[in-house]
Amino acid sequence: MYQVMSSSRIFDNTEIAFQLKSDSELERAYFLFKMISIQPLVRIGTAATNFALKAHLPVEGLIRSTVFDHFCGGVSENDCLQVIDNMFNKGVSSVLDYSVEGKESEDQFDAAMHKTLEIIEFAEKKEAMPIAVFKPTGFGRLSLYEKKGSGIAFTSEEEQEWSRVVNRCDTVCKLGKEKDVEVLIDAEESWMQDAADDLVEAMMKKYNTDVPIVYNTLQLYRWDRLDYLKNLHERGKKDDFKIGIKIVRGAYMEKERLRANEKNYASPICESKIATDENFNSTLNYILNNLNDISLFIGTHNEDSSYLAMNLMEGLKISKNDNRVWFGQLYGMSDHISFNLSNAGYNVAKYVPFGPVKDVMPYLIRRAEENTSVAGQTNRELNLLKQEKKRRKV
Ligand SMILES: Cc1cc2nc3c(=O)[nH]c(=O)nc-3n(C[C@H](O)[C@H](O)[C@H](O)COP(=O)(O)OP(=O)(O)OC[C@H]3O[C@@H](n4cnc5c(N)ncnc54)[C@H](O)[C@@H]3O)c2cc1C
Repeated sequence: MYQVMSSSRIFDNTEIAFQLKSDSELERAYFLFKMISIQPLVRIGTAATNFALKAHLPVEGLIRSTVFDHFCGGVSENDCLQVIDNMFNKGVSSVLDYSVEGKESEDQFDAAMHKTLEIIEFAEKKEAMPIAVFKPTGFGRLSLYEKKGSGIAFTSEEEQEWSRVVNRCDTVCKLGKEKDVEVLIDAEESWMQDAADDLVEAMMKKYNTDVPIVYNTLQLYRWDRLDYLKNLHERGKKDDFKIGIKIVRGAYMEKERLRANEKNYASPICESKIATDENFNSTLNYILNNLNDISLFIGTHNEDSSYLAMNLMEGLKISKNDNRVWFGQLYGMSDHISFNLSNAGYNVAKYVPFGPVKDVMPYLIRRAEENTSVAGQTNRELNLLKQEKKRRKV
């Protein structure tokens, strides 16, 4: 069990946390989290919104002025510029995340790749954006990854389709290397992840020869991931490449458990939240102790894990702004962690999602559901907002 010493509770400072929010933005955030905390409302709201968008009812304006503006930077990269600059003034960088999901055509995969390339070009010139990101299923069909990972032979058409997925990934990582912009690759459902892992490892071998440019993501709600990392670390040492790793707990727990149950196989998910937390913290510890080989992006809203990372860094004499360690949160969530960490001198970046309103709906629904299911997190946001509203009135 890891001892989490949170003696200097820097995350309690709400003045720093919400320094970029006007009084009205603070009120809107409070109202939004209050709504999200009501489970039936989220269920009904989600169904009604999906229906309204499919029926072309004019609800985009309403979505934009509520959830969208809170959790997204805008519809285009340019829309996000103000948010990026404002955050960077307070020391927080941005990872622009083209959050269009659920597209399945070759044209749409190419469009997602071009968007990511544009972001890397854009990032090269903007100090506030040192990192880019993409989702493997943004570049290819989930079922294709699944088949690849299962070892079932591809048809010749599927071979060609897969080589286009590899090419898209390679084109992005190559540009990342040329422009010195790190590329994070998100993790998704376990049944497509084996193929994604092999693909990302091939990219690491090719582009992480002296510094880590390409980062894979480990979901630590999976009990097999620390062993996977240790094996990857051995392969990195043997084949002489650096490893980039983003650690998260994982966003698809319900889906994973349901599928394992339906198809009658052992669930890949840790048996409890405590087991996930232990797994996350052990992996954090392992990486910080092997920083010469593995660079780390800590994607979490968990205060204890963030305090633990700070304590471990101090104990291991890793400087706060060591470029091999970054903390990351999602835009619209846990500003108390992001802005207080950056104020204390750590490297922090927030994922800033953007895209057309109806196309980022799956992302917004995941955020609403996550904030509903992780009751503690919503309450914490609400309490912090309430505390700041009170502080401003004094
Ligand atoms: C910058 C950033 C990038 C991200 N990228 C990805 C990504 O690429 N892929 C991805 O899947 N997610 C990603 N996420 C989302 C992430 O996986 C989590 O869903 C989210 O951050 C909540 O976890 P937490 O560490 O913040 O903390 P907490 O709120 O402490 O943990 C909640 C998480 O714990 C786990 N959990 C909850 N209950 C149980 C239980 N009963 N048993 C076992 N485990 C449980 C679940 O993973 C749940 O999401 C990202 C998050 C951030 C901040």
